[in-house]
Amino acid sequence: MIAGIHRPAVVRVNLGAIKQNIDNEMKHLRPGQKLFAVVKANGYGHGAVPVAKVAEKAGASGFCVAILDEGLELRKADIVKPILVLGVVSPEYAPIAAVNDISLTVPNLKWLKQAEKYLKKENLQLKIHLGIDSGMGRIGFSEDDEFIAANKFLEKNDSFFVEGMFAHFASADSSDDSYFKKQVAKFKHMQDLLTVHPKWIHVANTAASIFDKDIHSDLVRFGIGIYGLNPSSNPDSPDLKADIALKPALSFVSELTHVKTIHKGDGVGYGSTFVADHDTIIGTVPVGYADGWIRKFQGFKVKVGDQYCPIVGRVCMDQFMVEMPEKMPVGTKVVLISDNPNDPNNIKAAADYVDTIHYEVACLLSDRLPREYYEK
Ligand SMILES: *Cc1c(COP(=O)(O)O)cnc(C)c1O
Repeated sequence: MIAGIHRPAVVRVNLGAIKQNIDNEMKHLRPGQKLFAVVKANGYGHGAVPVAKVAEKAGASGFCVAILDEGLELRKADIVKPILVLGVVSPEYAPIAAVNDISLTVPNLKWLKQAEKYLKKENLQLKIHLGIDSGMGRIGFSEDDEFIAANKFLEKNDSFFVEGMFAHFASADSSDDSYFKKQVAKFKHMQDLLTVHPKWIHVANTAASIFDKDIHSDLVRFGIGIYGLNPSSNPDSPDLKADIALKPALSFVSELTHVKTIHKGDGVGYGSTFVADHDTIIGTVPVGYADGWIRKFQGFKVKVGDQYCPIVGRVCMDQFMVEMPEKMPVGTKVVLISDNPNDPNNIKAAADYVDTIHYEVACLLSDRLPREYYEK
């Protein structure tokens, strides 16, 4: 999708905040612990390469991405530090990863055997991290026999270099520790079965690190914290208190492109879900669900000039309308998402409004929205 540079709708990213968040986490690391910056999904919508460059300067030891192409994007941008793909890459692409010095996650023994064939053909060695399913139920080894066999397979196997072993927590952002502890125990059990020697054993995501869980992890896979957001974003309970200061980096701004007064009986938007019962001032904003600003935002209040105004009528594909208390000119600034956590249109409030988490709101912002970088 092409970015709309001739339209006043921009995702603004404060790289100063990104730097501060990483600096704060770097200081919070335990002795010897390293930080891998998670920049998957285009840096949670913030832009993978600009974020990775800041993280590199701030002392990140490596990067995590979700898919191979995201790793290749970083390599193309001259990022030379380790890159780990967290998802499953088809074994036939193992040589591409090896050539680009990108580490892959091993989901099971079958994958290893298939990847070996492709690597042998080209006489390549691949860096791997053994994925462990300690209770996330997603990817990785969970059965003893298979894991023991995989270790055997890897002993003295030149096609692979075992760089890591890791698992992912399902509930490190919850105040209820019981499932978390179960996952820790399962991981320890799998670790006891190792006969190969990974350099990095890692389990910590942002939550496990900043809620100070009692675990060992050689790396922190620091994701949402980079972007200044608290991972515990359950709308039904207050956020857990983070050990480090977090400063949101993202804001989403646009402008009014049209302003008018409608009269009693006039409708707004598809299906006329809003009908005026008196003279009403309506402003139009050139952003819609094709930008990731989904229809569920109907009723949410965005800031127009210095007033919070509700979205009225259905959000269209490319535009939405707001009801305004007074006439404001075309070109008036509209803040859809504020980077100030105290503003009512902060990203967590926006996520709560549409029944999701801020991770999803940020990731949904589409490529049609240019990202504008600044430092503050
Ligand atoms: C996305 C992801 C992370 C980062 O999680 P945050 O909550 O954003 O810190 C870490 N590890 C794995 C395996 C992931 O998929």
